[in-house]
Amino acid sequence: ARALVWFRRDLRDFDHAALYHALKRSRQVVCAFIFDRDILDTLPDPADRRVEFIHASVGELQQALAARGGGLVVRHGVARDEIVQLAADFQAEAVFFNHDDDPAALVRDAAVEAALRARDIAVHHTKDAVIFEREEVLTAGGTPYSVFTPYKNAWLKRLTPFDLQAYPVDVYTNRLAAQSSVIPSLQDMGFEPTNLFEMKLPTGMAGGAQLFEDFLDRIDRYQDARDFPAQKGPSTLSVHLRFGTVSIRQLAAAAWQQGGRGAQTWLSELIWRDFYHQILWHRPDVACGHSFKRQYDALPWPNPPGHFEAWCEARTGYPLVDAAMRQLNQTGYMHNRLRMVAASFLAKDLLVDWRLGERYFADTLIDFDLAANSGGWQWAASVGCDAQPWFRIFNPVTQSERFDAQGKFIRRYLPELAHVPDTFIHSPWTLPAAEQQRAGCVIGRDYPLPIVDHAVQRGLALALFKQAALPA
Ligand code: FAD
Repeated sequence: ARALVWFRRDLRDFDHAALYHALKRSRQVVCAFIFDRDILDTLPDPADRRVEFIHASVGELQQALAARGGGLVVRHGVARDEIVQLAADFQAEAVFFNHDDDPAALVRDAAVEAALRARDIAVHHTKDAVIFEREEVLTAGGTPYSVFTPYKNAWLKRLTPFDLQAYPVDVYTNRLAAQSSVIPSLQDMGFEPTNLFEMKLPTGMAGGAQLFEDFLDRIDRYQDARDFPAQKGPSTLSVHLRFGTVSIRQLAAAAWQQGGRGAQTWLSELIWRDFYHQILWHRPDVACGHSFKRQYDALPWPNPPGHFEAWCEARTGYPLVDAAMRQLNQTGYMHNRLRMVAASFLAKDLLVDWRLGERYFADTLIDFDLAANSGGWQWAASVGCDAQPWFRIFNPVTQSERFDAQGKFIRRYLPELAHVPDTFIHSPWTLPAAEQQRAGCVIGRDYPLPIVDHAVQRGLALALFKQAALPA
C-alpha cells in the first residue's frame, strides 16, 4: 500500500508519530508539505520571521529525507485542495498526519479528512506535539483541569517511560519514496527576507539540536537564571517546539532523566505547555477572544487613546517594558518574565483590552502558539484559568529592580539610557536635570516621560475589576 505523510508543524524526520505509523503500515511513503495559503495570506507583514524559519526548516527536512533515500513534495496552495490532489496523484491509499489542535486547524483537517474519505482514501491522525493531549489527563471526576498544580501532579503520576519513547523511524526508511519537488522561494509566495539569519537564530533540526545541547549544559542553573532577562537562562527552544524541529518526547525525557531542581523546573514549563494545549482543546472559545472565566468578558476596558500604540512602539517611559517591546520588535522573541511584565502593564497600567496585546504578540512572536499565548495573556490580565488574582498588580519599577538590577538588559535594548546610573535606570524620570545632561539623555526628549503614573493606574485597575463586582 502507498501512503502520504502530510508534514505541518512537525518539521523533522526523526521521532515523528505520523511518519512512523505511515512507514510501518505501508510499502511506500510519499512526504509532503504545503505552504498553506489559508494561513499565509492572512499574515499582516510580508517580512515574517516565522515564514522564513519554516522555509529554511522545510529545506533542511527535504535534504534530510533525500539523504535517507526519500524526498519531500512541497506546494504553495490551499492545503485542503493540495493534499487531496497529491493523494490522488500518488494513488495513496492512506494519508497520515499529526494532530494540530488549534481550532482553525481542526476545521481544516476535518474538511481534508472528509474529502479524502469521499475518495476512499483512509485517514490516520495521531498525537505528536505534546506528551498528553485532549482527554488524556482528567480529574478523578472525568472533568478537565483548570488549575495547573493538580494538573501537573496528575500528569507526572500518569507518565511512564513509554510516553517518552521515540518513534523509531529509522527501521523503515527504505520505504520512503523519492518523490520531491522544487521548493517555492519566499518571494514567489509574496514574502520578503527578515533579519532571521542576521540574528543567528539557528533553524531546522540542526538548529534545534544545537540549542538543546547548549541548554543541557546549563539546565542545572535554569531555576536560578530563568527570571533574569540579561542572563542566558531559558532554552530559547520555543520556536523549535512550535514548528516541531525538536521532539517534545526527547526534550521531556532528557529533563526527566536528568533530575535536579533546574531540570525539574524546566520539565514543569513543558507541562505548562501541555496544560494550555488541553485548555484550548476543552475551551476553544478562548481562541476567539473569550475569557476562560466568562464573567470577565464584560470588563469595560477604557482603552485610552494612544496607550496601545505607545506600548507597541516601546514609548511608555518605563524602561523594562520598553526594552521588552524592543526585544520583541527586533527579534520576534521576548523573555518569559518580560512577557508577564509587558502584558500586565498593558492591561493593568495602560488599561487597554488585553485582546489587543494578545493579537500584537500573535502577529509578532516567532514562537507564537495560540494555546500558550492565550493562556499567558489571560493569566496576566487575570481573566484566565489559574490566573494572577486581579488585585495582584506588577509594579513595573519593582520588577525592573528585581530582575534587571543593574539595567543590563535595559541598556542592551535602550542604548539611549546607556549612561543613566544604576539607581535611576528603572525610573529615569527621577534623575535630576543636571545628571540627565551628564548621562546624555534628557527625559522627555531622548527618552519618553512615563506615559502614566503607576500608583494612579493601579487604583484605576482595581476599581475597574471591583466595579464589575467580580470575585477574585
Ligand atoms: P523555556 O524557559 O526554555 O521553556 C521551555 C519551553 O516550555 C518553552 O519553549 C515553551 O514551549 C514551554 N513554556 C515555557 N513557559 C510556558 C508557559 N508559561 N506556557 C506555555 N508553555 C511554556 N509561549 C509560546 O511558546 N508561544 C507564545 O505565543 C507565548 N505567548 C506568551 C504570552 C504571554 C503574555 C506570556 C506571559 C507567556 C507566553 N508564552 C508563550 C510562554 C513563555 O513565555 C514562552 O514559552 C517562553 O518565554 C519561550 O522561551 P524559551 O523557549 O526560552 O522557554
